Amino acid sequence: MLWRITYFLLWQFAGGGLGLWQGGPWGAALGAALAAWAWFVWDLLRGVRVLRWLRNGDLADVPVMRGIWGEAADRARRLLRRQESQIRESQDRLQEILAALQATPNGVVLLDAQCRIEWCNQMAANQFGFDAQRDVMQSIGNLVRDPDFTAYLAEQDFGSDVVLEGRFSTPSRPVRISVHLHPYGDGRTLLLSRDVTALEQADAMRRDFVANVSHEIRTPLTVLTGFVETLQTLPLAADERSRYLGMMAQQALRMQSVVQDLLTLSRLEGSPLPGMAEWTPVQALLTRCEDEGRALSALLTQNQAPHVLQFPSEDQLRTEGDIAGVSAELQSAMSNLISNAVRYTPAGGSITVEWLRLADGSAVFSVRDTGPGIAPEHIPRLTERFYRVDRSRSRETGGTGLGLAIVKHVLQRHGAALDIRSTVGKGSVFSVTFPANRLRGFALRG
Ligand code: ADP
Repeated sequence: MLWRITYFLLWQFAGGGLGLWQGGPWGAALGAALAAWAWFVWDLLRGVRVLRWLRNGDLADVPVMRGIWGEAADRARRLLRRQESQIRESQDRLQEILAALQATPNGVVLLDAQCRIEWCNQMAANQFGFDAQRDVMQSIGNLVRDPDFTAYLAEQDFGSDVVLEGRFSTPSRPVRISVHLHPYGDGRTLLLSRDVTALEQADAMRRDFVANVSHEIRTPLTVLTGFVETLQTLPLAADERSRYLGMMAQQALRMQSVVQDLLTLSRLEGSPLPGMAEWTPVQALLTRCEDEGRALSALLTQNQAPHVLQFPSEDQLRTEGDIAGVSAELQSAMSNLISNAVRYTPAGGSITVEWLRLADGSAVFSVRDTGPGIAPEHIPRLTERFYRVDRSRSRETGGTGLGLAIVKHVLQRHGAALDIRSTVGKGSVFSVTFPANRLRGFALRG
């Protein structure tokens, strides 16, 4: 301020001095007045320069000047710079929050008070078929036409959610989306959506599984109870009694096998993956398979034409080396395939078991039979729990419908793959490919 007054006085003195020199005392008064005006105009021009700059607010073009206007411009520049950095910071924050919302595995839609889309993440766009850019400010009610959603939106019941069919859901690949609305801000709504297809499928599978287990246990239990009642109420002859007891034992055994297989499955699901520390000779596994297969075949074909069973020769097996994994699991999977071939192949049919080393170091264990074969539509479902093509044949021969489910599990745990090929009326081939890293000590025969 002091400078400003000093400047003004300097102008006055200069104008007055000049006027005095040129025109005496009147000249001095006129010079001082003119100098005051000139100072005023000069000051006004400086003020206008600052004002013009303030109007466009370009920080790259700040007017550089001294005095009060210079300070005003400088303070305004600092204020603008601080404001600009605050805006940049909050924009960065907003971008970070939006990026986090983009990264969530759930769909997020921000709706205004009129339920128009203000923003949505890519997941929500995919689930509902929105275009994240084009559909901004569109009413969500116009875009999601599901009547359940319309009712839910109208009700504004924020305490519950609604499950809708996904936009790209098809009968073969159903997609189910759970939608929940949450109020926030002044009348705004946050819509969260979640893909619950796998959850619903798991739930349905669990229900099916419980129903299947109950059915598998209840059937023999009902038969068993019937026999118990008969034995309790009817005076039976000794041979009849023992025949009934035999049938009861059969039903009890059936229940036992189902429970046993269920326990095996749950043990497989709960135990850690087999490591590479336990090695079992392929020869030992296949010799046991052969013993069990021949015994089962003899039992099932009593008084009938025997099966023709072929296994790899001892000579071949001696050079096949070892396989890594849980020996009992591998044994049960391989025996299961042989037992199925024996059980489903009519008397007189043939069953051929092979163990082949491939050039890449892997090995294929295969069981070929001349049984009834399996129609192609059943093949993908054979490893499902309790899935059977021929229920009566399975039960007659002591099947539980869990055998191939166990096989699949064991093989997956050992990095092996199961391949099923079959022709109805001709027979089936079940082959298992074991990876090279689980095999060792294979000696080439000369
Ligand atoms: P199960 O205890 O009923 O044999 P699995 O899981 O072992 O159960 O097999 C599932 C179904 O696959 C069987 O019920 C049967 O219908 C069919 N199957 C399995 N192996 C053979 C085979 N070698 N020949 C024909 N059908 C087979």
